[in-house]
Amino acid sequence: AKQRGRGKMEVFDRAMQGTMLRALKMEQEMRRALAAHEFLPYFQPIVDLESGRIAAFEALVRWQQPGGQLISPAEFIPLAEEIGLINQLGRQMLETSAQQIAAWQRIFPDQMLRVSVNLSGKQFNQPDLVEQIDAAIALAGIEPGRLELEITESILMDNTDAIIAMLEAIRARGIQILMDDFGTGYSSLSYLHRFPSNVLKIDGSFVRQVTEDRFSREIVRAIVLLARNLGMAVIAEGVETAEQLAALREMACDFAQGYFFAKPLPAAEATALIAANRQW
Ligand code: C2E
Ligand code: CA
Ligand code: CA
Ligand code: CA
Repeated sequence: AKQRGRGKMEVFDRAMQGTMLRALKMEQEMRRALAAHEFLPYFQPIVDLESGRIAAFEALVRWQQPGGQLISPAEFIPLAEEIGLINQLGRQMLETSAQQIAAWQRIFPDQMLRVSVNLSGKQFNQPDLVEQIDAAIALAGIEPGRLELEITESILMDNTDAIIAMLEAIRARGIQILMDDFGTGYSSLSYLHRFPSNVLKIDGSFVRQVTEDRFSREIVRAIVLLARNLGMAVIAEGVETAEQLAALREMACDFAQGYFFAKPLPAAEATALIAANRQW
């Protein structure tokens, strides 16, 4: 029995060691990739449901490895947050997204396209976050109103006053704050009045069910009405079917985003999509 116990211990140690080695290797890989600028924004269109035209894009990070392999954010954002690399990654996303806004401002001067960039709550631990945003805007030479930021309400869980002050400073520059994943937090409603945001993004988990049952449909309708009464705009995320789109239009939801329109696209393909001037 003793021997078997020791054997188990060894297996356990080796498994732990394996996990730690993988994490270490991943950390080294990420540092190298940040230096080599392998993290790129892909762009997913956000459609104005009144006009049926693209109004904006959400920037979503992808890790483009030298071999051509594409790694999705779910696989590296949590680690980046844990080991403190999210700040550098986040700054690069702000910079490259602002550069793309500048390019679209030149190619499509009449379209006033906006781009929203996701921010991790961890980035608000940096006292110079607002300066980083200013720098990205100045370097790209864009109007601040073309840039938007997506934040989840969970960032108000701690250090609330300091974070609200930063969000207010960002808004004072004309940069919109979008409340991401609305409906998934456990205290959405209690944070709503303290969150300096004009736009709600309804989480895809609600949108997907909007044509499935009356219950989900009425929840989405209630969120759209709530937002309207609070003077906020609403973006429905995760729209995958024509039926979902029709239901959202019937509710007078302002904007929609999802695979039904397009997946997140590399910059060149997003540019081609704008040029095609599609209407949904
Ligand atoms: P999110 O901000 O909620 O982004 C929406 C996610 O839903 C994206 O996944 C998008 O590709 C996916 N999506 C869009 N339309 C549909 C649809 O019709 N159906 C389905 N099933 N999915 C759809 P993605 O790109 O894998 O990103 C996952 C999460 O990673 C994001 O969720 C966000 O929390 C985080 N993330 C992505 N880019 C960044 C970034 O640059 N910085 C930070 N801090 N987080 C990021
Ligand atoms: Ca988002
Ligand atoms: Ca979301
Ligand atoms: Ca999410």
